[in-house]
Amino acid sequence: MTSAVIVGGGPNGLAAAALLAKEGLDVTLLEAADEVGGGTRSHEAIVPGLLHDHCSAIHPMAVTSPALRALGLERHGLRWRTADVDCTHPLDDGSAGVLLRSVEETARLLGGTDGDRYRALFAPSVRAWDALAEDTMGPLLRVPAHPLLLARFGLPTALPATVLARLFGTPQARALWAGVAAHNFRPLSRPFTSAIPLGILTAGHAAGWAVAEGGSRSIAAALEGALRAYGGVVRTGVRVTDAAQIPPADVTLLDLDPGQVAALYGDRLPGRVRRAYRRFRRAPGAFKLDLAVEGGVPWTNEPSRRAVTVHLGGPLAEVAGLEREVVAGRMPERPFVLVGQQYLADPSRSAGDVHPVFTYAHVPHGYDGNATEAILGQLERFAPGVRERVVGMRVTRPLDFAAGNPNFAGGDIITGAKTIPQLLLGPRPAFDPYATGVPGVFLCSAATPPGPGAHGMCGAGAAASALRHLGARPA
Ligand SMILES: Cc1cc2nc3c(=O)[nH]c(=O)nc-3n(C[C@H](O)[C@H](O)[C@H](O)COP(=O)(O)OP(=O)(O)OC[C@H]3O[C@@H](n4cnc5c(N)ncnc54)[C@H](O)[C@@H]3O)c2cc1C
Repeated sequence: MTSAVIVGGGPNGLAAAALLAKEGLDVTLLEAADEVGGGTRSHEAIVPGLLHDHCSAIHPMAVTSPALRALGLERHGLRWRTADVDCTHPLDDGSAGVLLRSVEETARLLGGTDGDRYRALFAPSVRAWDALAEDTMGPLLRVPAHPLLLARFGLPTALPATVLARLFGTPQARALWAGVAAHNFRPLSRPFTSAIPLGILTAGHAAGWAVAEGGSRSIAAALEGALRAYGGVVRTGVRVTDAAQIPPADVTLLDLDPGQVAALYGDRLPGRVRRAYRRFRRAPGAFKLDLAVEGGVPWTNEPSRRAVTVHLGGPLAEVAGLEREVVAGRMPERPFVLVGQQYLADPSRSAGDVHPVFTYAHVPHGYDGNATEAILGQLERFAPGVRERVVGMRVTRPLDFAAGNPNFAGGDIITGAKTIPQLLLGPRPAFDPYATGVPGVFLCSAATPPGPGAHGMCGAGAAASALRHLGARPA
């Protein structure tokens, strides 16, 4: 029987493993931690019964992921849940940019010319998202299945986010766009910084900014369930520190960052690949603060009280400045903060009237200071009185994310800076971004296209490359 070993059990390693097992391969997955999941784990960390997502929280890209759909994860217990409001970006005057599931309703709230332009920008791509997802959620250097659709969607992605923002006239619409564009962790004035917000917003309108019922760990549990149902084996508590530790197999897939692959395989990698992996550029970091909040966050802006995600950073120009600062290695006094209120979509995560509130600030790569006060300050700015409601908190510093999982080195939660080459091509320019150059060994982590998220599509791309390699191999 043809065999595969997967190193790393994040969503990409798990998806790759399950898809290969589904194809009939004899699959073993090795995971360093005591549980699989990587960036899709959840814990009761502060108050018993209060469930916090450790890393990924909101999943617009996962709901419509072709890889997750192919595995029928609902049969393994995965249920998506959405809140009334997908996202808000409050401003100091109490108003906010408000994102709803429907393009039409979002455009209506934005109103006037902004609403018309929003509708014109998103409605066609949202209608075609299932087809577009096939082309956008994989490697760029290949023949697209839907070239015209892709061209229409792709052209504005090349614009700097600050330029595309000029489509909109109101501070609310511009701020809403800026908050989603901040997911780049790049200066918003750089080319192609519209790609990530266009992708997230289009997928979000198609599927909702969904959370997994029972925490993001349910995604990992469903993937593990699918893998085991297809006969795969999972071994946890196995940290691979030398390639010689990896059991021999027909194909090996690595859910690891390129630097770790360079360290494991050393001279076995072709020189150009080894150099590219060692030069792989990292993004700024995240400093996370999980809160237990009695009665929830008292946002001044009413829709924010119903929103699963709230972006804090003020108007567009302020957000753009904050992102420029962290990329330059400077910690802003009032950083960009993402707030997750997953319990609004999945009330099972709360304990009575105490709710889990997920926050993280964008900070410089490897930041070793304490951003707790900066995060609480941003919360107070838009929700005065929140401090008095906090009954518990837990800090995860950039270096804590990296401990044991170099995919998040320096707190880089997106596994690599989204510079133009890395955004479009992954760790090195090649027709097959998953191939490492060592025959039968593939990279499948979020460092490869289509990049970060719990969608499993990097794993699916690498699994497809591995299957092509096996098909092409002489019998
Ligand atoms: C704070 C935070 C918030 C986020 N928010 C979101 C969000 O809301 N939505 C979203 O879609 N994404 C979000 N992400 C990003 C998302 O979690 C990642 O993009 C995703 O987890 C990447 O999956 P992966 O499988 O490539 O790698 P990982 O999830 O990092 O998994 C890699 C696995 O490999 C294991 N491993 C590493 N080295 C070894 C080794 N040597 N031997 C054996 N095992 C090893 C690790 O323990 C880990 O389990 C967030 C991430 C963080 C940290």
